[in-house]
Amino acid sequence: MLPVSKTKPISDLLEAYNHGIKAFGENYVQELVAKAEEMPKDIEWHFIGHLQSNKVKYIAPFVKMIHGVDSFSLLKEIAKQAHKNGRVIDVLLQFHIATEESKFGWSPEDLDAIAVELKNNRYVGVEICGVMGMASFVDDEQTIRKEFRQLKACFDGLQPFLSDRFRVISMGMSGDWPIAVEEGSTLIRLGSVLFGSRN
Ligand SMILES: *Cc1c(COP(=O)(O)O)cnc(C)c1O
Repeated sequence: MLPVSKTKPISDLLEAYNHGIKAFGENYVQELVAKAEEMPKDIEWHFIGHLQSNKVKYIAPFVKMIHGVDSFSLLKEIAKQAHKNGRVIDVLLQFHIATEESKFGWSPEDLDAIAVELKNNRYVGVEICGVMGMASFVDDEQTIRKEFRQLKACFDGLQPFLSDRFRVISMGMSGDWPIAVEEGSTLIRLGSVLFGSRN
C-alpha cells in the first residue's frame, strides 16, 4: 500500500512517519521537492501525478518511483536525468483505462508498439517495474472491474518482454481498492481514507 499525501501538511506526514510509514506518494513536483527537503531522508518518494519532461530534473536526484510514465520521450528524459544523478529510477507505465477524457496514459491498443520499443531500446537509468492506471470515478462496480481487468491484461501482455523486476500493478484508490485487489493489484494508492478528505 502506498500512502498518498498530496495537499497534506508536513505535520500529517510526520505523524504517519512516526507510526512507521516510510513511503509517500505525491502529485505535484514543487510540493514533492519541498516535502522531501523537510522530511527525514529515509523515505521512499513516489511521484504519482502527471509529469512534464522539463520537470523531471527536479525530482530525479531522490525520487524512488515515477508511476505516470505515458510516453517514450518522458521515459528517455527520466533515463537521462537518472544517469546524470548516477541513479536508477523505478518507473511504471501508465495506461488510460477509464472512460473519462482527462486521464493520462497509453491506450491498451499501444501495447504492441510499447513491446517493440522496449525490446529494441534499453533505457539505461530506468527500471520498468510495472503498470499503473486509474479507473473511472463511477459507482458502477462492473465498469471499474472491467477497467482494472484491462490494466491487468496490459501487464500480462508486456511481462514477457521485460525483466523480472516487472511485477507491479499499481491500481486502486480509496474508493475502489477492494475491487482492484480482487483484480490483481499489487500496489494500492490510498489518500483520503488515510489522511482525510482533501479540499
Ligand atoms: C490522489 C491520488 C490517489 C489517492 O486518491 P484517494 O482517492 O484519496 O485515495 C491515488 N492515485 C493517484 C494517481 C492520485 O492522484
